Amino acid sequence: MHFKSLGTNQQTVSLSDAVFKGLADDGSLFMPQEIPVLNKHFFENLAQMSLPEIAFSVLKPFVKEDLSDADLKEMVVSTFSFPIPLNAVNNDIYVLELYHGPTQAFKDVGARFLSRLMSRLHPVTDKKMVVLTATSGDTGGAVAHGFYKVPGIDVVVLYPKGKVSPYQENQMTSLGHNIHAIAVDGTFDDCQRLVKQAFNDRNLRQDVAVTSANSINLGRLLPQMVYYFQGVARMMEKNGGKALVVCVPSGNFGNITAAVMAHKMGLPVKRFVAATNVNDVVPRFLDSGNYDPRQSIVTLANAMDVGDPSNWPRLFELYQNDTDKMKKEVVATVVNDQEIKETIQSVFTAHNYLLDPHSATGYLGLSRQMKSDESGFFVSTAHPVKFLETIDSVLPSEAQKLRDEFGDAFTAKGTHESMGNSYKSLKEYLMNL
Ligand SMILES: *Cc1c(COP(=O)(O)O)cnc(C)c1O
Repeated sequence: MHFKSLGTNQQTVSLSDAVFKGLADDGSLFMPQEIPVLNKHFFENLAQMSLPEIAFSVLKPFVKEDLSDADLKEMVVSTFSFPIPLNAVNNDIYVLELYHGPTQAFKDVGARFLSRLMSRLHPVTDKKMVVLTATSGDTGGAVAHGFYKVPGIDVVVLYPKGKVSPYQENQMTSLGHNIHAIAVDGTFDDCQRLVKQAFNDRNLRQDVAVTSANSINLGRLLPQMVYYFQGVARMMEKNGGKALVVCVPSGNFGNITAAVMAHKMGLPVKRFVAATNVNDVVPRFLDSGNYDPRQSIVTLANAMDVGDPSNWPRLFELYQNDTDKMKKEVVATVVNDQEIKETIQSVFTAHNYLLDPHSATGYLGLSRQMKSDESGFFVSTAHPVKFLETIDSVLPSEAQKLRDEFGDAFTAKGTHESMGNSYKSLKEYLMNL
């Protein structure tokens, strides 16, 4: 399969180019040239299939010209090596838990698959290959764990010194091997600026193949379709054939884009709910027809604090950029910080289920939008241990239990380099890696 850019120049590229370039030459996003519908046989067997079996069937049409069946099989088995269970929260509301990976967030799925794609597709050269990434906290950990010990690739993660939690810092610094964590004396913006400078440095790129693993990479998007099939597969046994609604807590709108792509492949879902925090550009758009991006606002669900979602053009394109078409299948709802806290507390009290702030947004979004003849699941995108301050403010005894259970993850124990914020030192570091 080839991949098309969504820009005016309509570039089409191979899987390998889409993955290593990240963005098209005109700066627009790549999408699969077509989204194939899976056959009847697949859906008849879905309820009996394991997660890696589902992943193989879903991903094969997108990669079959570029990877052998044996390679793809190995990749899905090692990517999806942690469980993604579906659990009941109350009567008709289920949760698909995406947070059982190494960094307790759903971004593990995309990062793990991308790393395996890159290690198989990268052209044979003498150049050292480096995935260079800036992080304000969470993405760095998922990328570091995703690429850990992947042959032929080094990872350099830049994070602002003293501005990430010890828990997050550990996820980047405790691995070693091919993972290099650098604490930059500056802000997240400084880290991003350094990464940009490296990408624009032709002289550096003669010696080092630098590439990015950021969230718009198609290699992260494709595997995210898989767990929606997993959700429906596990739901088939439970909901007695009721129409299904799926709710996705959304920030950059990559996760829900993957859900809608799965729907185009034939996934039987009646409606999707995009639940946002007060960064509500998409809900406002569906109300008014005006796309009006804003500065992001800080909330308790901070991995969704996005004022101008980078995957929006992809989602809109799946509906031929037609608002009315989109509104038939996608509804949006806004959850504020007060509601997030109340939901964490009330769901725990009533159903003994502990939500993190992002998953609370998903739960409330689904329960608002589901009708009595429907059932549904929301995806839980992070483990509550990652957002302990919020849990502490509403359910202190539960927070204490998590602290006891995850104790050593809160004390810094890894190793990292330290660096000023000048590009010269980063370049030297990369040249000598
Ligand atoms: C990244 C992230 C989200 C948002 O996902 P998008 O694909 O950007 O919409 C939600 N929850 C958590 C915990 C995240 O890390």
